[in-house]
Amino acid sequence: MLYIGCHLSASKGFLAMGKQAAEIGANTFQFFTRNPRGGKAKPIDEDDIKAYLEFAEEHKFGKIVAHAPYTLNAAAADKRIRDFAYETFKDDLMRMEYLPGNYYNFHPGSHVGQGAEKGTELIADILNRVLFPEMTTTVLLETMAGKGSEIGRSFEELKAIIDRVELSDKLGVCLDTCHISDGGYDIIGNPEGVLDEFDRILGIDRLKAVHLNDSMNPAESHKDRHAKLGEGFIGFDALIKFISMPAIDGLPINLETPNEIEGYAKEIAMVKKAML
Ligand code: FE
Ligand code: FE
Ligand code: ZN
Repeated sequence: MLYIGCHLSASKGFLAMGKQAAEIGANTFQFFTRNPRGGKAKPIDEDDIKAYLEFAEEHKFGKIVAHAPYTLNAAAADKRIRDFAYETFKDDLMRMEYLPGNYYNFHPGSHVGQGAEKGTELIADILNRVLFPEMTTTVLLETMAGKGSEIGRSFEELKAIIDRVELSDKLGVCLDTCHISDGGYDIIGNPEGVLDEFDRILGIDRLKAVHLNDSMNPAESHKDRHAKLGEGFIGFDALIKFISMPAIDGLPINLETPNEIEGYAKEIAMVKKAML
């Protein structure tokens, strides 16, 4: 089953996102839980959520992916920034329970000179404080391009975090094709090898979602600049080959390409056609 969608604006609520997704041929989507730069989330609108859940069931949507704000840095050196990460994370996970069984994706964080080891400890510490046994949400660590001091540039770095978390059954991984290419994984030449390595280090069951992006830069550039599908260094055929592998089947695949809604509609149609 192909679940394909894109990043949508959450400003008009969940039913509006569901309808917009359906209009552009999507059956999943991603959204920010609040302003990407941080700040307060809107109050929960239970009627809107109820209407969305009915709509999603009727339209056979897959799981949806909430994305934490970019300013959330669980590995920050400044305690105030870590406290903001903790409060945001905790509040977001509480809110996610209104949409049971979906995904909450976050960027593990940047260690800002403290070293990957220290950063890893800080990220695991926050996860150990915000995860709770009754939660139905799975928290996804996103694979990162390795820009600056970003943690999560390799499968090993993600594993080091997961290994330190008590409720690690609540954790999964969201694989971003632009980021792993920028991180040095050869998804063009050896896509099977990339997923074999993922399986060897993390276990393929941890793979829960995909961000489908081309990259403006060649492999191993550690830049993190997304390109439209087929307009970057990965190329359309390699991207399609990648998401056609059995391990990806049934996972929500979301575009985060530099597009307005019409561009997303076009790319979703391209992907669907190629996946037939
Ligand atoms: Fe992201
Ligand atoms: Fe991403
Ligand atoms: Zn990115």
